[in-house]
Parts: sequence; C-alpha cells; structure tokens
Amino acid sequence: MTANATRVLVLNSGSSSLKYQLLDMSDTQSTGGSAAGRLAVGLVERIGEETSRLAHTPLATGGDKRETEGPIADHEAALKAVAAELAADGLGLDSPELAAIGHRVVHGGLKFTAPTVIDDAVLKEIERLVPVAPLHNPANLIGIRTAQALRPDLPQVAVFDTAFHTTMPEYAARYAIDVATADAHRIRRYGFHGTSHAYVSRKTAALLGKDPSEVNVIVLHLGNGASASAVAGGRCVDTSMGLTPLEGLVMGTRSGDIDPAVTFHLKRVAGMSTDEIDVLLNKKSGLVGLCGDNDMREIRRRIDEGDERAELAFDIYIHRLKKYIGAYTAVLGRVDAVAFTAGVGENAAPVREAALAGLEELGMAVDASLNAVRSDEPRLISPEYARVAVAVVPTDEELEIAQQTYALVNA
Ligand code: ADP
Repeated sequence: MTANATRVLVLNSGSSSLKYQLLDMSDTQSTGGSAAGRLAVGLVERIGEETSRLAHTPLATGGDKRETEGPIADHEAALKAVAAELAADGLGLDSPELAAIGHRVVHGGLKFTAPTVIDDAVLKEIERLVPVAPLHNPANLIGIRTAQALRPDLPQVAVFDTAFHTTMPEYAARYAIDVATADAHRIRRYGFHGTSHAYVSRKTAALLGKDPSEVNVIVLHLGNGASASAVAGGRCVDTSMGLTPLEGLVMGTRSGDIDPAVTFHLKRVAGMSTDEIDVLLNKKSGLVGLCGDNDMREIRRRIDEGDERAELAFDIYIHRLKKYIGAYTAVLGRVDAVAFTAGVGENAAPVREAALAGLEELGMAVDASLNAVRSDEPRLISPEYARVAVAVVPTDEELEIAQQTYALVNA
C-alpha cells in the first residue's frame, strides 16, 4: 500500500443490489467520522433485470446525483458500471489512493470474530456458511470475487455482521435443543446487524462522555429488519436475532419470535411446503403481514386516520419491543442507556415514545419535546431526572466497515 493510500471502498452486495461508498479515511479521522470523508455514495438496484438502476452521488465534487436505467446483467457488470462512475469523477478504482475494499459479509459463523483480510481460505469458509445464510452469503461472495477480479493487487477485507455477537456467553447463544443435533448442523444463535450494534453502542458511550467499557447499553436497531442487543461494557451479551435474521422483534416483513410449532402446523394442517413457510415468515409477515404496510410512516398515517388494522400492527410491534427492553434490562442488571437507531429508530418519534411508555419504574422515560426534534446527530431524548439515558444515534454501517477495514490494512 502506498503511503498516501487513504481511501476505502465499501461494498454491500445483496442478491439483486450493490450499495457502495467511497470514503477518505484521513478526513473521517480528522473530523471524528463526519460526512466530510465521504467521496461518493451510490446504489445499483434490480441487477439481472431489464430495468436495473444505478444512482451515483459524487460528494467529493459536489456534483448532482446521476441516475441511469437499463439492463445490468450481473454483479460484475454492476461493479464495472460503478467503477466507470467513480472514474468519471476522478475517483477510479485504479487510483493509487485506494487502500482497500471493505465488504459487508452477513454470516461469519463462529470463526470470524473480527474483520479479516480475504484469501482463498476465507472465501472457502464464507462459502461453507452458505447453508446458514442462503439469502445473503452467496451475494456477498459474488461481490468479493468481482472486486478481486477488478483489483487483484488490493487488500479485500470482510467485515461480518455476526462478529460483534461472538462474545455472547454460551447460555445466551445456545438453543435448548439436543446438543448433538445442534452441533452437527451448527444451529445456535449468531445474531446480525453486528456492525451497527457495535457502532451505535460505542457512539452512545461517547454521547455520555464515557468509555464503552464503563456503560451498559440496550441497542434497538429498528430498520426494515430489526434487532435488539444487550451490550455490557462494550461487549455483546445477548441479541434478538438467531440462527438467521428471522428471530426476535417484529420487523417490516418478518414475524420475529413465534412458537416453532406454527411451522409444523402450517405443514401438516395448511399443507404448505418448507419454502412456502420460509417466504411467509420472512417476506409476508411482520408489519406487512399484519396490516399490508411495512413503512412506519404509512402505518402512522393510517393510524391518524383511525385505521384499526394499522393500530393493532403498531401495538404488536411495540409490545414485542417492550418485552425485549424488559428482558435485556434483566440480563444487564444495570442499564445506563437505551439507544434507538436505523430508519424507524432514528425517525419514528411515536415508536420511541410508545416503546418506553410506562417504564418509569425501570428508570426509563422520554421527554416529548426532545423526542420531537429531528436531527442527523446523536442526541439524548430522556428528561434530566431519568436514571437511564435514552438516545437516538444514527447508525453508519459503511463508516464502521471502512474504519475496521482501514485499521486492519494499516496494522
Ligand atoms: P433497512 O436498512 O433494514 O432496509 P432502514 O434502516 O433504511 O432499513 O429503515 C427503513 C424503514 O425505516 C422504512 O421501512 C420505514 O419504516 C422507516 N422510516 C424511514 N423514514 C422514516 C420516517 N421519517 N418516519 C418513520 N419511519 C421511517
């Protein structure tokens, strides 16, 4: 790596999408991680379809967002199109200033507890984990292989969604099922959104003026996918997602916790296949299953118009959230902060208010006027007297991936 190589390209490859950001780490370090370090951001959607779409914003040049539509056959073509956009801004992937490419990888199993420079053995292990992450790891692998082909000389780093949760004690990670069966099939709770839980718990400590080792935080990552974690002194001790991202909170389209016997019942009584049940619970459940909408803005609008289905969906969502807040309060013993993040957590004041309503006995309360403030900055929304700080902390998974990648290649 050349001395002035300070840029990191972050790639997040989904099954039909590719999100990317190019960051300058010399800037992000000097500005404490603000947007100043972001050179370009973008997204390729509907890869493999006739109507693929690339949206690219060249922040470095202050240029406008550029959108192009037209067929992009696969991830290789998508990354090449992204490279061409970056090159048009003088930020090409052939630049000596590019230090590394950081890849979001969803499932790292038990082996990957930290960001890892990718070699053939790492690729094999990510591939070996495909059975436990059939939707995500294959797309991540394609992204890595494509980037390697484009810049074989450059370090490529995998940052795993599961890594932050590998500190969970065995009694939190293991399901109460036959040990031999569980071990033979690697069935245990892995947890996801770890990059976000790590970033947000650290930022929350900073907001309180404390070191992460000094505080216990409940992080509520409420996006379309949603998960809660209990973080004690900077280490994750429990999280709501499990073997897959299906367990835990009510999500946009996922059921979260249900009695596992529901699945046998659907098979035996409703005659559904395993794949049909998979689609039902992952794509047609949660808020969308309950009321037909998964966007919290739309759900709130419908509630304001008196829509009872939307209201029940909201109440079920909040009830589950509250149960996890209570459970993680018990797990942690002492809670210093509850932090809300991601699309719903950062924006939906009614969700924050309802989730903590009635929890004054636990030291938790929300100040209505602070809760109503809209901001991109980390902030406290609890009243001064409250024993537990309630925070809204915008997550930044790309920055966290870039920082971990940059730190690793400079180590
Ligand atoms: P993901 O990364 O899981 O796709 P996000 O963290 O971007 O999801 O969250 C997306 C969700 O955030 C949307 O489905 C919507 O419910 C919610 N959301 C976004 N903006 C707002 C807003 N202004 N008010 C309420 N909810 C919002």
